[in-house]
Amino acid sequence: MTPDYNTLLLAIGLSGFCLSATLFATWMSARVERFLLSWSLGIGCIVPAVATYSFYFENPDFRIGCMAFMLHFLGFAFIYGAAYRFRTGRSGRRRMVAVFVAGSVVALPWLVVGYDGVGFIALNLFVAGCLAATASEYWYGRKEAPLPLTGIVVLYLLTAVSFVLCAAVLIHDGQWVMGHAPSNWAENLNLVMAIIGITGIGAMSLALNQWRVAGSHQRAANTDALTGLLNRRALFERYGEEAVNEHRAAIAFDLDSFKSVNDRYGHAAGDAVLKVFADVLRDACGTAACVARLGGEEFIVVLDRTLAERAQRVAEHVRSDFAAKLIPIGGRSITCTVSAGIALGNAQCTSFDSLLSNADKALYISKRNGRNLVSLAA
Ligand code: GH3
Ligand code: MG
Ligand code: MG
Repeated sequence: MTPDYNTLLLAIGLSGFCLSATLFATWMSARVERFLLSWSLGIGCIVPAVATYSFYFENPDFRIGCMAFMLHFLGFAFIYGAAYRFRTGRSGRRRMVAVFVAGSVVALPWLVVGYDGVGFIALNLFVAGCLAATASEYWYGRKEAPLPLTGIVVLYLLTAVSFVLCAAVLIHDGQWVMGHAPSNWAENLNLVMAIIGITGIGAMSLALNQWRVAGSHQRAANTDALTGLLNRRALFERYGEEAVNEHRAAIAFDLDSFKSVNDRYGHAAGDAVLKVFADVLRDACGTAACVARLGGEEFIVVLDRTLAERAQRVAEHVRSDFAAKLIPIGGRSITCTVSAGIALGNAQCTSFDSLLSNADKALYISKRNGRNLVSLAA
């Protein structure tokens, strides 16, 4: 064994340990992204796996070999599990156990019966397959953050190739029985690739974590906490600066006599009514419309590529559905109604502000004419 080889092993050990610790600390601080935990556990197994593997050089005892193999399979099972959890959000515990058991069954018997060369070939091919499966999980989830995820996929695939090369050299040389761990150019390349892979993937996993955290903050900033609809800020970010044409409609909704619901049944009951109304809006508008809570008991629906008739149909649908809803409050059911006002863009109304203000005026007509009505701006 050359000193170069030891240096490489040391580099893997140090970089792996540092990354594992960093990712673990990152997970500890948020405890949201559990895939980071699985990943750091995986690297945490691979570091002692590599150390045991190098120990096998000096003591080619099959028990030490088996130990090194099992640590490898455990580590790569965690790494695959991290990818699966990243994409699906599910724990993937069964899949990880399956990877570990399958790897052990495929490779360990060869070590035990003395065909250690075949065992190393099986180990390398199995790990390569495992890394390819890991890469494919990230590939299918790449839409979330294309850049870091594509980088992760490439690194996993390159590492997989370096394992395949290790197997290929052994097969080519017909090394079925070795009595020692393999040592050739492919093994050295594999170690270099492992160092690049561990550090590169680790750094990109951290970037990915930041990406997710930033995304969840962005969503929270644009969402109304009570109803889950878009909030005022999101609505204005989306439409505030855009010119309005005659095919854009805004429908303003305001719950009728809502103050009396709060006064009679309490604020919590009022909140429940708001949630029911938000559900009615979602059901009636589907994904074709932008639905937002402006504040209090006021809501806005924006429709694009629409005519007055369609806007009226949507508003009427919401009004009648909500009026018919029995809302359970403290053991009984109450009903509530909503008034609506519709405005469309036109030559005098070209900004979002004026569209909302026209919708509000129409809404006021509905209120004045007795509530539980839909009116269209003149
Ligand atoms: P109108 O039919 O004219 O619209 O009468 P109203 O009682 O609905 O109108 P008003 O503007 O007088 O009252 C609105 C009430 O909405 C007052 C406020 O306490 C209540 N409100 C605003 N935001 C919330 C909320 O988040 N939760 C609850 N429970 N009540 C809210
Ligand atoms: Mg109001
Ligand atoms: Mg009201």
